[in-house]
Amino acid sequence: MQVTVLGSGTAIPVASRFPAGYLLRTDATVAMVDCGPGTLRRLPTVGVPLERLDAVLLTHYHTDHCADLAALLFALRAPQFAGRPPLHLYGAPGLVRLVGKLTEAWPWLEPRGYDLRLHEVLPGTFALGAATVTAVPIRHTAQSLGYRIADATGAAAFSGDADTCDELVQLARGADLFVCDCAMPDDQKIDGHLTPRLAAGYAERAAARRLLLTHFYPACDGHDLAAAARTAYGGDVVLAEDGMALAIGR
Ligand SMILES: [Zn+2]
Ligand SMILES: [Zn+2]
Repeated sequence: MQVTVLGSGTAIPVASRFPAGYLLRTDATVAMVDCGPGTLRRLPTVGVPLERLDAVLLTHYHTDHCADLAALLFALRAPQFAGRPPLHLYGAPGLVRLVGKLTEAWPWLEPRGYDLRLHEVLPGTFALGAATVTAVPIRHTAQSLGYRIADATGAAAFSGDADTCDELVQLARGADLFVCDCAMPDDQKIDGHLTPRLAAGYAERAAARRLLLTHFYPACDGHDLAAAARTAYGGDVVLAEDGMALAIGR
């Protein structure tokens, strides 16, 4: 299993980071976790043509996590993708409404030449190729989900945007990689988001093997987030950068 950071930023445009998006590659499946604006364009730069994309899992419906959904659905109508395998979209209840409203506004998002399969996800598990995904409710919006994706090689956990909640421990328990919201420095915490020490505290309680801090607002610039995290967590701390690839497990 491999995780590539497509976007480590937020809704605020900055030169070096796109909004939220991650690419997950297993032996059997290529999936995005979130698809913030710009992240679709990263796929060819990391060697994934659109015909290879099997699934998109959305943590919540804030625009910095899903705006490229419209761009994706429009792109997949191109004749070159006709007959490709189905694209599976996963998200909390509201997904069908979101896609319906987008298609109402932009009728040319209607799938053509391929099947679009929408899956509204409740907390619990579902299969994604040979992997098992566990969806965990996370405190951020009313229907935010974290995803833990595990196969025979290892497990990666994605908090999505997250405020303090014990479910983060369940999400990341024993994970090889815990990708966690770290929106602001510790002395500037905002509602709905975590800071490096808070994220690290959950990684420590969960005994996650490696913590990937991400979703950095510009206020993070100039702060030593990794040092702050290491005060609360004994594992490996990595600060996300767009394009960074991390191998997981055996
Ligand atoms: Zn966000
Ligand atoms: Zn959000």
